[in-house]
Amino acid sequence: MTTSAAATLVPFDEVLERYDPALGLEVHVELNTATKMFCGCPAAFGGEPNTNVCPTCLGLPGSMPAVNRRAVESAIRIGLALNCQIAEWCRFARKNYFYPDMPKNFQTSQYDEPICFEGFMDVDVDGETFRVEIERAHMEEDTGKSTHVGGLTGRIHGADYSLVDYNRAGIPLIEIVTKPITGAGEKAPAVARAYVSQLRDLIVALGVSEARMDQGNLRADVNLSLAPKGSGTLGTRTETKNVNSFRSVERAVRYEMQRHAAVLDGGGSILQETRHWHEDTGVTTSGREKSDADDYRYFPEPDLVPIAPSREWVEELGGTLPENPTEKRGRLQTEWGFSDLDMRDTVGAGALTLVEETVAAGASPQSARKWWLGEMARRANDSNVEIAELGVTPADVARVQALVDEGTLNDKLARQVFDGLLAGEGTPDEILAARGLAIVSDDGALSAAVDNAIAANPDVADKIRDGKLAAAGALIGAVMKEMSGQADAARVRELILEKLT
Ligand SMILES: [Zn+2]
Repeated sequence: MTTSAAATLVPFDEVLERYDPALGLEVHVELNTATKMFCGCPAAFGGEPNTNVCPTCLGLPGSMPAVNRRAVESAIRIGLALNCQIAEWCRFARKNYFYPDMPKNFQTSQYDEPICFEGFMDVDVDGETFRVEIERAHMEEDTGKSTHVGGLTGRIHGADYSLVDYNRAGIPLIEIVTKPITGAGEKAPAVARAYVSQLRDLIVALGVSEARMDQGNLRADVNLSLAPKGSGTLGTRTETKNVNSFRSVERAVRYEMQRHAAVLDGGGSILQETRHWHEDTGVTTSGREKSDADDYRYFPEPDLVPIAPSREWVEELGGTLPENPTEKRGRLQTEWGFSDLDMRDTVGAGALTLVEETVAAGASPQSARKWWLGEMARRANDSNVEIAELGVTPADVARVQALVDEGTLNDKLARQVFDGLLAGEGTPDEILAARGLAIVSDDGALSAAVDNAIAANPDVADKIRDGKLAAAGALIGAVMKEMSGQADAARVRELILEKLT
């Protein structure tokens, strides 16, 4: 195994002085159908290993597959949402290779006859629109899952033994492949991130997948190549596999651009290979040399009838599409009264849907935006996860804001409620009660604390008696300190002035 922790990198700005990057993204979407692609086994996540299996998804001799109609429907809806053409007739194909987690020794996929082809998605990056052209979206099945035990890295190298769980084998996947994305220049990493992020929003809006990157429902492979600046050609690409967050997509593109440039600057050539992304160190390492399609000996699947979706069905499915994302952003911006910058930041943070759901749960757009882009974004960044995966829901944020609005919490106490939410201590109201966080506005308790503050700060009290009301701030601070920040500051001020003037 080569390790490229020590790979030489060219500074990002210098890469762009000499090279034009080309991106390509392959995104696998695991559909949320009730059953698998070609058999009736449950397609649910989790479950005891090797319990959701049958002769078909285990590839036993004599078993016969049958296509899941709902999966075809989801594929067509994804294709239509990506402005694709829908094939009038297409077939499945066998992709032949050996992998221990693939019991049939071939993957049932689509080869030269994908169900969806020639589409596009417009991606917004910093207020600029890039059109990402979609080459194809095809149907296939997932493999099982291997667990390599005993090694340090969790990979097969160095492991003592491996376990295979076939529960995932045969779960329907849609693979969405872009054409090479050129012309993005320095924005290539951001375009890659924005594409995957917007694609996820679209998948969520379609309701065809849970689309959680952390659970592998949505997996991105990032292709990157560099060509000499202005040459108009495409260089040799590498494919970084299974990058599992938006942020990592951006980082992986940036890293590969810098690594490719160093190899090319040194007179070397890029090996066409797959690479592994290492989330912790932010580097890629060499995987396996990339196979050409020829090596897979694709041939049409003889056990499945061709798929021939009628035009009436396609049209009917076209009527079930969610609002176009670009139009939706425009509508929300108007409804929320956000500036272009507010909106751009919200989209850029991957918080559009979260803000939308928080507003739907009763918060004002500005307060929803404040929490998600401030407190939540900071915490997500600290824990190295996407904000959607923090474990705080839009309903939680809306409830916390409602408690602030009604005067039960201030922003400081609200942050302690979020601490409790992240620690899994229950609902905002449960945390509020358990941690005793509510603001105290009871005059008895406040009056005693004010008396203590006056007694401890006689000089400040004298100033206030002399009419220097601005000095009250020091006493309010003392009361707040005594009451752990839980005093109603406005009422404390009133009490101080009542007592001293
Ligand atoms: Zn099965």
